Amino acid sequence: MAAIKIENLSKRFDGTAAAAVHDLSLDIAGNRFVTLLGPSGCGKTTTLRLIAGYLRPDAGTIHVDGALVSSADAVVPPERRAMGMVFQNYAVWPHKTVFENVAFGLQIRRLGAGEVRARVGKMLELVGLAGFEKRLPSELSGGQQQRVALARSLVVEPRILLLDEPLSNLDAKLRERMRAELKQIQRRTGITFVYVTHDQAEALALSDEIAVIDQGRLQQFGAPREIYARPANRTVADFMGQVSFVPARVAAVARGKGQAILEGGGTLALALPPGIAAGDAVDIAVRPENVRITPRGSAGSAALTGKIVEHTYLGNANAYVVMTVGGARLQVQTHPAQLLAVGEVVAMELDPDQCTVFGRAPG
Ligand code: ADP
Ligand code: MG
Repeated sequence: MAAIKIENLSKRFDGTAAAAVHDLSLDIAGNRFVTLLGPSGCGKTTTLRLIAGYLRPDAGTIHVDGALVSSADAVVPPERRAMGMVFQNYAVWPHKTVFENVAFGLQIRRLGAGEVRARVGKMLELVGLAGFEKRLPSELSGGQQQRVALARSLVVEPRILLLDEPLSNLDAKLRERMRAELKQIQRRTGITFVYVTHDQAEALALSDEIAVIDQGRLQQFGAPREIYARPANRTVADFMGQVSFVPARVAAVARGKGQAILEGGGTLALALPPGIAAGDAVDIAVRPENVRITPRGSAGSAALTGKIVEHTYLGNANAYVVMTVGGARLQVQTHPAQLLAVGEVVAMELDPDQCTVFGRAPG
């Protein structure tokens, strides 16, 4: 199905100093679930509105299946793009039944009553609302209302579905279930989904690819695993969950691999980004689940020493904050049964394959 090619897209609103979207390029293949992820105000909704055709870019282009749909000179209007849109606030008509809500888009296209009934029935089946035809939105839960909104957008068979934080008004349990359903619906329909969220867990769970955006600029575009485990920069590393930075100095470099001497003890052999030379100061980014606390004394040469300064019981894990001898604050997660006391001195080993090295700007 539909592929979207965004090239050097920029948009600045009148009277604002910074661009909401700045020189953004993204190649979205057809039949994909792609998520735009970033903090509030980073330009996600603006990007979605540019894709939908509600906004004209200042510069750059958008092509859908090779056809130019947006540029600074001309914009194909939303109603001629065959795109559907689902918003955070379930935009359903309160005085229409579920059936009437979903059927509306087909009726204005003047389809026959029989076909409308068949297509609405099929769609309600798909979103798990078969049997709810006669209900009013006030007789539905939030999740059910959002599924009506989804059915209404899907029933007209858009090439692309744009979803702007559609689950953020649902409670945690329902949100998780809806995630799974959305993903299944995307798979079954083959429609290209462009999904907007500020929730990194949601993005990881749903997406074929994630575009991380910060201050209107694309930071990284890739599969969830890549974005989480191999962040392109500190902003991405930080946004995609908890991360600690351990200062180190590179001792020796050979074929992209290096020996890093950690501040506060220990050495680690790891992959280095290009441009790092022996003697450089670096920061090693590591996630809490990739640090192992080992008993003092038994630890190998890779170990860092530190003192536990905080402990939080999370149910499925213990979260510790350890102050290393080198002065870094390290977040560590352990199995819930591995209980350690605040004040205890511990050794820690980092999994070198799960670490990312960032060069440090001089000065
Ligand atoms: P997000 O959806 O990621 O939270 P938005 O795309 O809504 O972010 O907004 C990006 C930036 O553009 C923000 O700084 C926001 O204040 C600004 N902005 C959005 N819409 C308008 C508008 N209509 N007029 C002026 N500024 C806007
Ligand atoms: Mg938004």
